[in-house]
Parts: sequence; C-alpha cells; structure tokens
Amino acid sequence: MNVPDIIIAVDGFSATGKSTFAKMVAKEFDFLYLDSGAMYRGVTLYAMENGMIAEDGTIDEKALQAVIEGLDLHFQNDDESTKLYLGDRCVETEIRTLAVSSHVSPVSAIPFVRNYVDKRLRAFSEGGRVIMDGRDIGTTVFPNAELKVFMVADEQVRAQRRYDEMVAKGDTPVFEDIVKNLAERDYIDSHRETSPLRQPEDAYVMDNTHMTLHEELVWCLGVIQGKFGILEAPSLSW
Ligand code: C5P
Repeated sequence: MNVPDIIIAVDGFSATGKSTFAKMVAKEFDFLYLDSGAMYRGVTLYAMENGMIAEDGTIDEKALQAVIEGLDLHFQNDDESTKLYLGDRCVETEIRTLAVSSHVSPVSAIPFVRNYVDKRLRAFSEGGRVIMDGRDIGTTVFPNAELKVFMVADEQVRAQRRYDEMVAKGDTPVFEDIVKNLAERDYIDSHRETSPLRQPEDAYVMDNTHMTLHEELVWCLGVIQGKFGILEAPSLSW
C-alpha cells in the first residue's frame, strides 16, 4: 500500500508500547523512526555522568544550561536499528537503565532542555516521511502532523511489558520499582508547565492493553486508509 510522505506523531503514557508500534510502522511503510524520549534520556545521562544531578535528585540547571547547546546527541543507524550517540559513543544501553528513568522526567520538564531537544528533532525530521514517538509530538513538536496517534494501556500490563523487556536484556528489576517509576513519570510528564503530556484533540486513540502487534499494525493501516482515502487493498509483510 502506498502511504504518502506524511509525519506521524505517536504520543502516550510511559511504556504503552509507543516505540515498538512506531518501529513496526516505520519498517512496514519505509518511514524514518525517531525516538524523542531517547534524546531526553541522553541529556539526563550526560547530566548524571557530569555531576549535575545530586543524590537527592536536585539538578544543577545552571551547569546544564551552560553546555546544552554544544551537546552532540544524534541518531545513527547500526545494523537494523537506530541508536542514540553522544558524540562518537553509543549510549543506547546506558539510557535505558532505571537510574536514568528515575531522573529523566524532572530533566525533561526544564524549558531549555525541551527547546534543545525540539530543535534537534525538527532538524532530524527535515524531508518528512517520519514517525516519531514521545509525549508532546502531536501537540508541540509537530502540531501539524498529518496523523496523530495517542496510545494508552492498563498500568499493570505496561509495567509487566517493561519488566519483561528489562529481564530480556539481562537486568534484574524489581516489579514494584517499575510500577512506581511509571506512575511518577506519568504524573510529572502530564503536570509540568512546558509541553505537558496531553492527548491531541485530533489524535486517534489506541488502547493496546489486549492487542497483539499484528492487530496494532492492522489498526494503523485501517486508520491510514480511512484518513487518506486509500482504496488499494492492504497487503502486510506479516
Ligand atoms: O519515551 P521514554 O519513556 O523513553 O521517555 C522518557 C522520558 O522522556 C519521559 O518519561 C518524559 O519525561 C520524557 N519525554 C518528554 N517528551 C517527549 C518524550 C519523552 O518529556 N516527547
């Protein structure tokens, strides 16, 4: 099926499967996939490694502001997937730890951090045909995105998925810590002053609590067909 060169914005709460969904759609329809959360995680990792976040979580905003515009955070395609780099160092594994997850929401609430990430995301997306996931893609980064998806799922199911993901990577997380982290991040992300997490008015809502990945793809295909008046019979690669 011929999908036009559009921007697809995917937003939603933590661990609702946004990146899995977006990667799958990108692969199916040959779109560039960009993970905006990875950028926020990258800034957080940099701040942690450079002593800008105290034990009690206090952020040295002055120090971070002084260096942020010079931070070289970018994506590179390695093997089949897109990975985040800080300069010439791949930080894809480091940014996914629970330690980074526990500081990322307060860091992301800082306006100059959002400004830095927004600028980079828009620059990476020049040329369109992009699917990007995050918390404010359809409301702030690309308010004119041609297709907006807002993802929701049951809290316990989300925590279980994140737990399984971490275990598969060799981590030994405590389930309750994950539940707590997701709840804290959802709260901070939807209550901050700058670009809070909101469902865009013109978004299509997907509750994937009981959906398989294949069902998500079929759902997306139906939405694209309906929205863009595509009559061609859909054919999926799987
Ligand atoms: O998507 P992911 O869970 O990796 O995002 C990590 C954190 O980055 C979120 O909890 C949120 O605080 C922040 N974020 C954001 N805006 C985005 C994407 C992520 O504030 N567009």
